[in-house]
Amino acid sequence: MRIAIGGILHETSTFSNVSTTLADFMRTASEGQEIIHNYAGTKSAVGGYIDAARDFQFEVVPTFHAETAPSGLVTGEALIGLTGQLIQGIKAARQSGPLDGILLDLHGAMVSEIDYDAESYILRAVRKAVGPDLPIIVELDLHGNITPEMVSLATVCVAYDEYPHVDMYERGYESGLLMTRIVRGGVKPTAAIVNIPLLAGIQREFTYAEPMLTVKHLARDIENERGILNVSYLPGFCFSDIPQTNFAVIVTSDNNQAQAQAAANRLANYIWDHRQDFVVRPWTIDAAIEHAMQAPEGPIVLADIGDNPGAGTPADGTIMLEALLRHGATRAVIAPINDPQAVQLAIQAGEGSTITLDLGGKTDRFHGDPLRVTARVIRLTNGEFVHTGPMGTGVLSKMGPSAVLEVQGDNGSRVTVLTSTYRHQPLDLAMLQSQGIEPSEQQIVVVKSSVHYRAAFTPIAKEIIEVDTPGISNPAFDRLEFNNLKRPIYPLDPSMVWAPGQGS
Ligand SMILES: [Zn+2]
Repeated sequence: MRIAIGGILHETSTFSNVSTTLADFMRTASEGQEIIHNYAGTKSAVGGYIDAARDFQFEVVPTFHAETAPSGLVTGEALIGLTGQLIQGIKAARQSGPLDGILLDLHGAMVSEIDYDAESYILRAVRKAVGPDLPIIVELDLHGNITPEMVSLATVCVAYDEYPHVDMYERGYESGLLMTRIVRGGVKPTAAIVNIPLLAGIQREFTYAEPMLTVKHLARDIENERGILNVSYLPGFCFSDIPQTNFAVIVTSDNNQAQAQAAANRLANYIWDHRQDFVVRPWTIDAAIEHAMQAPEGPIVLADIGDNPGAGTPADGTIMLEALLRHGATRAVIAPINDPQAVQLAIQAGEGSTITLDLGGKTDRFHGDPLRVTARVIRLTNGEFVHTGPMGTGVLSKMGPSAVLEVQGDNGSRVTVLTSTYRHQPLDLAMLQSQGIEPSEQQIVVVKSSVHYRAAFTPIAKEIIEVDTPGISNPAFDRLEFNNLKRPIYPLDPSMVWAPGQGS
């Protein structure tokens, strides 16, 4: 049994003004055996494929794999170029021997200027190359905005069950096991999808608290029913102004369409009945900072939810820094402010020197203006670190040249800011620890993140507070301009009526 593996991943915010190019993907793309070298032993989807191949004794044939940080629309050149490389790899795999299937690591929320449904674009090309019958199992991020076309092109869609995505590896492994059941066991996957017209607030997609905790448990119960192969629930990616942004439920049965449809309807009904619970209600900035400064013990983790680079924002927002300085905060850290110019100034000045600079706020006008500050250069690094988990344990991350600055206010405020060259979401303690910052020793830790930070920061946080910072990853949907979204949709159309089977 020979199985080709590959992947193309991007989460696209259509509200970002930074387009995503082929060069962005190629910076960390891998081809052929490089894929094995880069991902074997890591807690990633491909790491799961490789271990499944070892345990179930099939051969993996690596093709092409590329991903890049969330940002704006993917250029046509990038989608065409990446798909071309993947197809080339798959064709080469077929030429070197018979191929029994493909394990494909996709995201589900990739939007290109040439196709809003980029995953269907990729899958159409793969189908064209291998025909309608070769099993293709697609692993998807739970933030995918999924269309019926995507589901019909794939043999099975397996989405992450967890947000933070601590189970990418497990779902990869599950995909490998499913592949052996299809190829050797004669299982015949038959899928049903229900698209629920619900724009879920991203903070409420956290799968370790309600409303998602019960969704996860119900899905597991259904998955344990006889004849069900997989249950995937995808609250989707809400910062995408495209028709198919919604909450999808996909149930795959063994050759029983009615069973799959009934189960998908059941889960969709539960989600729709709890739609009010997917609305986010964050704290105001001043209330959050005052509360954190007065807390008897830190660290209090403040989530800067408007500027999460993991949702395609610039990560150079200055709103929280300005507020912390104004309130006279000390023992506070901001992770990170992405500002390559600031890093260069710090490098020129050298460690230990004091500089005055305009920090952050350079990409757009949604996340605060550049802030004139005086700062001491604490530390300069190459910005590389290895994830200590639980997300992506073992994966090497590159923030590019980075500088730790201590910003000093006239009122005695002292705020440590990690500045980086590339945007990076703070979802691993090693991101700070590798730069000489110990988060557990702070009173306040500001993370530019929606939910992923919770996996690593919950064990050290005395309290976690979601802060209503302005920006293109704040799920106050009435503040964003949606033009292409299919309406009606909850909560923008709060009084709408819907039930599974009535369309979406
Ligand atoms: Zn995601």
